[in-house]
Amino acid sequence: MAHLLIVEDDDLLRDGLAAQLGLAGHQTTTAANGALAQEQLEANRFDGVVLDLGLPLVDGMAVLRWIRKRLLALPVLILTARDGVEDRIEGLNAGADDYLTKPFNMAELEARLGAMLRRSRLPAFGGSLELQMGEAGRLRLDATQPLAWLGDEPLELTQREWALLSLLVANAGQVVGREDVLSAWKADPSDPSDTTNTGSNALEVYVHRLRRKLADSGLSIRNVRGLGYMLETTTP
Ligand code: CA
Repeated sequence: MAHLLIVEDDDLLRDGLAAQLGLAGHQTTTAANGALAQEQLEANRFDGVVLDLGLPLVDGMAVLRWIRKRLLALPVLILTARDGVEDRIEGLNAGADDYLTKPFNMAELEARLGAMLRRSRLPAFGGSLELQMGEAGRLRLDATQPLAWLGDEPLELTQREWALLSLLVANAGQVVGREDVLSAWKADPSDPSDTTNTGSNALEVYVHRLRRKLADSGLSIRNVRGLGYMLETTTP
């Protein structure tokens, strides 16, 4: 299940999208214009956005650019007019992950959303991953190399710590299985000093180190017994 923000000014289409995506098992929140969409994005954490481009108050393209400045890793699917080739190109250049032209088929929307959400959970997707933590600042990770920052301060992470944290951030609020971490490590074995040590004991050691490095950051790594680990924000 994903929490989706549906931004569409056409009442009928907006309600229809919310109903269908709800039936598909998603949690949905709706916004009828760009300004309300920004309010929702500031108040809640979403896994993805369905964004109409033609919107009152703040248009969809402005909302898209606004999203990309703040929530780099948030997947966005744009809805454009059938003949809006320029809109589609502009939208993709502005950071949309996918698009559909109106009128669209609901099953295709669900399939594209599903694919977009799966991709967004891969640690290597996109240019960087980012978590906003209220007053505490933000955690930002480069998605391609082991670099991370807490606010403006660089976080010193080994390759494996960074891969683990990337997975946790990309799936914040959801459980990341041990196997997911171990397979991510195997896929990217650039920490030559520990290539022989990929068991779950090693994972616990890395989680412990990460917890120390994230102390006082407003983030905590919860051990979900038997399942894996979950990144949570701690209320101040
Ligand atoms: Ca519209």
